Amino acid sequence: MVLAELGNKLSAALQKMQAVTVVSEEVIDRMLGEVARALLEADVNVKIVGELRKAIKTRLNFEEEAAGTNRRKTIQRAFVEELSKMLDPGTKAYDMKKSKSNVVMFVGLQGAGKTTTIAKFAHHYQRKGWKCCMVCADTFRAGAYDQLRQNATKLRCPFYGSFSEADPVKIAEEGVRQFRREKYEVIIVDTSGRHRQESALFDEMQEIRAAVEPDDVVFVLDATQGQSVGDQAKAFHEAVDIGSVVVTKLDGHAKGGGALSAVAATGAPVVFLGSGEHFDDFEPFNPRSFVSRLLGMGDMRGLVEQIKDTVDNKDQMDKFAKGTFTLRDMYEQFENVMKLGPLNKVMAMIPGIPQLVGEDQGGNRLKRFMYMMDSMTDDELDGRVDLDKCPSRLDRVARGSGTHPVEVHMLLKCHKQFERVVSKMGKSGLMKGGDANMA
Ligand code: GDP
Repeated sequence: MVLAELGNKLSAALQKMQAVTVVSEEVIDRMLGEVARALLEADVNVKIVGELRKAIKTRLNFEEEAAGTNRRKTIQRAFVEELSKMLDPGTKAYDMKKSKSNVVMFVGLQGAGKTTTIAKFAHHYQRKGWKCCMVCADTFRAGAYDQLRQNATKLRCPFYGSFSEADPVKIAEEGVRQFRREKYEVIIVDTSGRHRQESALFDEMQEIRAAVEPDDVVFVLDATQGQSVGDQAKAFHEAVDIGSVVVTKLDGHAKGGGALSAVAATGAPVVFLGSGEHFDDFEPFNPRSFVSRLLGMGDMRGLVEQIKDTVDNKDQMDKFAKGTFTLRDMYEQFENVMKLGPLNKVMAMIPGIPQLVGEDQGGNRLKRFMYMMDSMTDDELDGRVDLDKCPSRLDRVARGSGTHPVEVHMLLKCHKQFERVVSKMGKSGLMKGGDANMA
C-alpha cells in the first residue's frame, strides 16, 4: 500500500477513539493532534494540515447538533471526507472512450518516470482489453527511443518511432495518423522531457499538441520532491493545460503525502499512482478510495469499479444493475478481479481484510474465501437459503473447506457489504456506466 506508514499512524489515531468509553473534547483534540503530526511527517503542507484540522472540528461541532448521532461514526466520516477533500482538486479527468481512438500525450521533466509510466499505462489498459500503441516523439534524449521500444516489445504493444527523423512534431503527427487509421483505441504519445522547465520544452509541447490534437495531456511527476511538485504542476498546468497527472515513485517515500496534496491544491486531477519499477506497480487514484484504503477501511467502490471493467456479459451486468448479487456472483467476480492485478492490491479494497491479516497474507484470505464457496451447495451460492440462519450448514462449509466457522461468518459479512454496494450502485444507475464515485 502506498504511504503505508502514514496510513498506520492515521488508523492508529482513529482506533484509540474506539478504546475509550467517552469520546470527550479532549480525546478528539488528542486524536486531531496525532493526525496533524502524521500528516506533517508525510510532508503535507502545514497550512493544509491546519485547514483540515479546523474543517474536521467545525464539522463535528455542527453535526453534534443532530440528536442521536453516533459520535465515533460521525468522527470517522468527517475524517474520511475531509481527508478526501484535501486530495481532491474538484476537477474531472478525461474519461477514455471505447468507441474511438483516444490520443493521450505524456509530458514531464526528465527522470520523473515518464517512459516507465507510459509502459504501465499501456499495460493497465491492455489488461482491460483495450487496443494500445505507442509513439515516441522524444528526439531529445539519446536512448529514449530504445527504452520505449523495449517496453513496447515486452508488452507486445505496436510502436512508432524513428532513428533518423529529428523533428518530434513530424514523428508524432505521422505516428498518430497511422494508428488512428488502424483504429487503435489508446494511442500514447511520449514527448521529450528536459532537465528543468524551459520555454523550448513548452514550445515543443505546444507544437506537438497542435499537431496530434490529444484527448488528454498527462503530466508525470516525481513524488520524492515532496511539496515542491506543486509549483511544477502549476507551471505545466498553466503552460500546456494538462488534463491529468500521474504521481510516480510513491513506493515507501515519506514525502508522498506532500506531493499528492500539493498537486490537488493546483486543481490538476491525479489519475494514477506509480509505486515501483514494474509494470504492475501502478494503480488508479481516486481520493475517496485512496483514503478508505489508507485507513484500512477497504474500498468497495474501487472493487465494484474493477468489476465493471471485467464484466462483459450483458445479462450479468443487467442483473447487477437490478441490485442482485449472490455469493456465486461474488465468487465469479473474485476470479475476474484476481486476473486483473496483484492480489494484495485487490485485498486492500475489501473492508476488514487489510486489518485482519496484513497485506502479505491478503491473497491467502481471498483464496480461503473461494475454498469456502467451493464447499457450498447451489442453493447456498444462489441465495435460496440463508447460511447466516443455518449454523449446521455453516459448520459444514467450514469443515468442507478446512476453515473455521468464524471465517465463514466473515465471508458472509463481506458478501453483505458487497451486495449492499452493488445494489446501491445498481439502483442509482451507476452499474451501467458513468462515475461510481458516489458519496
Ligand atoms: P523519464 O526520464 O521521465 O522517462 O524517466 P524513466 O521512466 O526513465 O524513469 C527514471 C527512473 O525512475 C528509472 O530508473 C525508473 O526505473 C525509475 N522509476 C520510474 N517510476 C518509478 C516508480 O514509481 N518507483 C520507483 N521506485 N522508481 C521509478
